[in-house]
Amino acid sequence: MIQKLPSLEYEYDSLEPIIDEQTMHLHRDKHHQGCLNKLNNALEDYPELDKKTEQLSELIKNPEQLPDEIKTKVLQNGGQFLNHNLFFSILKKDVEINGEILDAINEKFGSFEAFKEKFSDAALSIFGSGWAWLSLDQGNLEISTTPNHENPLMDGKEPILNLDMWEHAYYLKYKNDKKTYVENFFQIINWEKVNELYKIKKEVQ
Ligand code: MN
Repeated sequence: MIQKLPSLEYEYDSLEPIIDEQTMHLHRDKHHQGCLNKLNNALEDYPELDKKTEQLSELIKNPEQLPDEIKTKVLQNGGQFLNHNLFFSILKKDVEINGEILDAINEKFGSFEAFKEKFSDAALSIFGSGWAWLSLDQGNLEISTTPNHENPLMDGKEPILNLDMWEHAYYLKYKNDKKTYVENFFQIINWEKVNELYKIKKEVQ
C-alpha cells in the first residue's frame, strides 16, 4: 500500500499565474489522490502484490504479473499515479535549461527552439485526454504522446518530462485555449530536475 502522495517541493500557489492555485489543489488533492486511492483499493486483497507497489513502475512494465480481475484498474490508476508523480516533480518557475540535457536536446533536435516546437506540436495533436512526453529510448531522447493513463514505461522507455493534456489540468484557467497552456508550460519546467533524471535514466538504459 502506498500511503501518501509524494511530497510537493513547492507551494500550491508558486506556479501562478501559469498554473493557478485552485487548479493545483483540484489536480493534486482530488485527481492525483483519487488515482492513489483507487490503486490502493484495487490492491487491497492482493498482499503479495501490495509489497511490490513501491516498485510500481515494475508492475506497469510487466503487467503479466497482475491478476486479470485487477489488471485494468492497476494499469489505469497506477499509470495515472506515476504520470502525475513525474509531472508534479518537474514543475518550478524560472529555471534555466543547462547541463547535459541541453547538450542532448541540441544534438537531437538541432536547437532548443526546434525541440520546443516539436514537443508543442505533439502535445496539441493529442485527441481527447493524454500526455506529451520526453523520454529516453535506448539512451536517445524521444518526443511522444500517449492516450489516457498510458506511460512510455509500458513500451520500455524511460520518461524524464511530461505534460498533462487532460482537460482537468488546464480548463479552469485556459478553457479551450490549449495552445497558450502548452506555450506557458515552458516557463515552469524545472530543468535542473529534468537534467538529474536524464543523467540517472541514461545510466540505467
Ligand atoms: Mn492530471
